[in-house]
Amino acid sequence: MKTFSEFGLEPKVLRAITEMGFEESTPIQDKAIPVAMEGRDLIGQAQTGTGKTAAFGIPLINKIDIKEERIVALIMCPTRELAIQVAEEIEKLGRFKGIRSLPIYGGQDIVKQIRGLRKKPQIIIGTPGRLLDHINRKTIKLDDVQTVILDEADEMLDMGFMDDIQSILKLVPDERQTMLFSATMPVNIQKLAQQFLKNPEHVSVIPKQVSAPLIDQAYIELHERQKFEALCRLIDMEAPELAIIFGRTKRRVDELSEALQKRGYTAEGLHGDLSQNQRDNVMRKFRDGSIDVLVATDVAARGLDVSGVTHVINFDLPQDPESYVHRIGRTGRAGKEGAAYTFVTPREIDHLHFIEKITRHKIARKPMPSLAEAIEGKQKMTAERVLEILEKDEHNEYRGLAISLLEQHDSVHLLAAALKLLTGDKKEVEIELTPEDPLRAKKRRPDVRNSGRRPSGPYGTAGGARRNDRPYDRDRGGDRGGYGRGGDRPRRDGGGYRDNRGRSDSRERDGYSRGTSRSNEETLV
Ligand code: ADP
Ligand code: MG
Repeated sequence: MKTFSEFGLEPKVLRAITEMGFEESTPIQDKAIPVAMEGRDLIGQAQTGTGKTAAFGIPLINKIDIKEERIVALIMCPTRELAIQVAEEIEKLGRFKGIRSLPIYGGQDIVKQIRGLRKKPQIIIGTPGRLLDHINRKTIKLDDVQTVILDEADEMLDMGFMDDIQSILKLVPDERQTMLFSATMPVNIQKLAQQFLKNPEHVSVIPKQVSAPLIDQAYIELHERQKFEALCRLIDMEAPELAIIFGRTKRRVDELSEALQKRGYTAEGLHGDLSQNQRDNVMRKFRDGSIDVLVATDVAARGLDVSGVTHVINFDLPQDPESYVHRIGRTGRAGKEGAAYTFVTPREIDHLHFIEKITRHKIARKPMPSLAEAIEGKQKMTAERVLEILEKDEHNEYRGLAISLLEQHDSVHLLAAALKLLTGDKKEVEIELTPEDPLRAKKRRPDVRNSGRRPSGPYGTAGGARRNDRPYDRDRGGDRGGYGRGGDRPRRDGGGYRDNRGRSDSRERDGYSRGTSRSNEETLV
């Protein structure tokens, strides 16, 4: 990660970025901005929501001469919505510099667009179809274009814009910089790039894993204080063969495994404070089934390969989409089906949507399991165990006793009592867990933001100890999830995080951790 001041941008551009609340560049920005600033052609590949717009927008805004009165840059987007979104971001980035940009898309009054064009925008952001309309009407001419950006190129081609794009690109002078951004790189994109880009530099940030289709993903919205009860009910209801429960911190893992034991579950915790010996022990018990619930932190569970994990339960929402994918990937292995449940507090819902967006997977909402469902699940389990014994014919030594009991008692009552005994009473132990802060960016001191001091933490605050933050999803709400759109609403915060979130005693991070914190990891696990 870099701070934006390291790219050598104009102060006015830098100021715009700061005003937008961006503190550090995203990985694709890290890679793309320097290449783009050299004037080279570029192919940028990264998933949705990773900040591709600013990856090309920043160098573009930086490069354009403000005295320019011609269209010098063209951005093509697949849809009206995307054109509007990109135009908004470009507008914000160019605000202090005074860059003029105009979105051009179908469905909007063309006369209005023509009026906009008279204001001599330097950047046009348009959908291919409507752009061609204007080109044919001669209301837009591309003779002076020096930079072309194909945004969300895969989507444009999926929507059948290949011909339109080719026609448009043929009208742009050869002497130009061309950048193509796409989440995926199918062959037709590569062909397009070959045809229109000159010796492009490839920059890509490809996620390590995508979520497996065999995993049934659901979330349960609840309050922090309801989590433990919900967990017990969920375990009772689902009767997992092997379950991994993820907690955010080491303290959490300790408290949770202990609490589960008190309630009568065979659970153990796994985190990096345990010695290698202890860890091996826990893992052995989990593998051979002498415990069926493993409570773990992200880091402790990394690379953990146990077959037969039927359930993953995210007791705490993971920091970022990659950890989410890692976590749920502990189940559904080797072609088996698995279930992943995620507990989400109301304030974390936005973050959940962000995860959905990045993983491109909708997570189904399920209600909190009721007491009745929990009991039913538990009873069903007992019955299954009884039937299993019956099937294996392993009960002969009890026959005599059974006969004599049946002579004195009603069979239904007798069996019910036996089932009750087997199921075990719910141990009513009072459990209190230390609450975890919801995963959400918090207020920070405004003086930090404006002081121009170089932030010292990975995602930039003064404080340094904070290494657990999620990237980019600071509390800006917004409709796209992603790295948090919605910069158009008044910023509620100073753009930062509360200081106490980085308690180094207990936090772990995973997934999107980008180098900066790797070295710290050992102290965390
Ligand atoms: P993509 O095009 O890769 O799908 P976007 O460019 O639309 O993603 O960015 C998603 C969101 O992340 C936007 O709201 C954008 O303003 C925000 N964003 C981009 N870069 C950063 C950054 N460096 N820090 C914080 N937020 C960012
Ligand atoms: Mg985009």
